[in-house]
Amino acid sequence: VKYGRAIVVGSGIAGLTSARVLSDHFDHVTLLDSDEIPKSADVRSGAAQSRHLHTLLPGGLDILSDLFPNLENALDKQGGMTAGPSGWYALTSHGKTYRISRFQPTPNSDPDRPNKTRIQTRPLLELCIRQQVEALPNVDVIYQAKAGHIETQSNQVTGVSLQGIQKALKADLVVDASGRASKSLEWLKQMSGDLPEESAVNCDFAYCSALFRPKNISAFTDVGFLISSAREGDYTKRGGSLARVEDGLWQVTLAGRLGDYPPRDLNGFLDYIGTLPVSKMSELLENAELVSGPSQYLFPKSIVRHYERLTSFPEGLLPIGDTICQLNPGYGQGMSVSCRQAMELDSLLRTRRKTEAPLEGLWRDYLPCAFEQTRGPWVFAALMDFSKKGTTGDFPDSEAEGIRKLKILNKRADKGDTEAASLVDSIFDLRLPFSALDDVLV
Ligand SMILES: Cc1cc2nc3c(=O)[nH]c(=O)nc-3n(C[C@H](O)[C@H](O)[C@H](O)COP(=O)(O)OP(=O)(O)OC[C@H]3O[C@@H](n4cnc5c(N)ncnc54)[C@H](O)[C@@H]3O)c2cc1C
Repeated sequence: VKYGRAIVVGSGIAGLTSARVLSDHFDHVTLLDSDEIPKSADVRSGAAQSRHLHTLLPGGLDILSDLFPNLENALDKQGGMTAGPSGWYALTSHGKTYRISRFQPTPNSDPDRPNKTRIQTRPLLELCIRQQVEALPNVDVIYQAKAGHIETQSNQVTGVSLQGIQKALKADLVVDASGRASKSLEWLKQMSGDLPEESAVNCDFAYCSALFRPKNISAFTDVGFLISSAREGDYTKRGGSLARVEDGLWQVTLAGRLGDYPPRDLNGFLDYIGTLPVSKMSELLENAELVSGPSQYLFPKSIVRHYERLTSFPEGLLPIGDTICQLNPGYGQGMSVSCRQAMELDSLLRTRRKTEAPLEGLWRDYLPCAFEQTRGPWVFAALMDFSKKGTTGDFPDSEAEGIRKLKILNKRADKGDTEAASLVDSIFDLRLPFSALDDVLV
């Protein structure tokens, strides 16, 4: 027997994935978004990050491919790229490396676990997932519908009111996937509930992105590359990427931190590229013309909200995705974290339904599981960010033992230990949770 009605607030990657998962467990799911959602792969205001590089790591791709078996096909048809094992790499002054966290000069070509990453614009990824969610028979989507207050009866959430519409939508479960706007905090205040503590890493990070059309499409035939920041000199806070995306375009995303932001004017943008430690991007862009941008996105800090520490919480409300954890985008993890959280929800609902258990207390089981999925990405992002002088905030001291193991394993991987490399990579790629290190003796 399925549960009654669920509402998902926000139709970004976390919301779309949640709606798909909930459609297996609820008779009826309503997915809301405040945006007018474009019918084509266009940027929309509620997901302003869509102008910037969005890589889908193997862990997120595994989950999305299971939930949406036609997804990769749809992406391929519309010009999305599959990178791997050799098409996506970082360039450093030492040469090519296939791992962000260590120098690995050759691609990982383990046939059982190919290091497969998907590259496309974020609007295309969203469109391809959205079309499959919209086709689900028990999912209704309402766009230009901004969630306002939460409806409650004592500590039970009973629905959501929409701004400008008098009648509230009723639900047995409301999943908050409203991203950085985070309705949950507002709703907890509305219900006089405790607010979660926050950890933050002040990475002071900025992206600036533009689309270019190459004059000769075969000038670059790999999928894309990152240029890692220089280890020394005047420009240690700069990096960038070039990725082949739909319509034969190149998406160039520059990244800078701690005040050294990439400029928004084209000349400044190109000059910035000229200061990167490898000249490949500059050389390619000499024969390409600007199509759109440059557009900037400032990301002052990574935040994780410790919902898992709360001892009381409204029944019938669950946060997911960026409402819980916003990670420095430079490591490409956020969408995959959302997918892993959605799978935690799936597994908890599956277990409850087996014994016809009610939804009561679901938050108590779910919030720690959702947090668990943020631990690995949070540690990776923090280790990278704190390696840059000037980063401040909450170093993940409580993860000291895992970090110790990770560092040892990374060193072993550097020396060619394939087992150690596979474990570190699987955690970084979000195929395994951070707790996979618990049983490792090093
Ligand atoms: C610049 C940048 C680059 C990134 N690059 C990557 C990457 O390469 N790889 C990766 O995995 N992740 C990346 N991320 C992270 C990724 O975008 C998010 O982590 C991921 O999409 C999950 O977000 P979400 O669905 O929780 O929120 P969002 O994608 O922000 O979606 C929230 C949705 O809620 C809607 N909404 C907000 N308020 C309301 C309301 N009141 N009522 C109804 N709807 C509402 C919004 O319109 C929006 O559609 C990047 C992030 C940024 C900022």
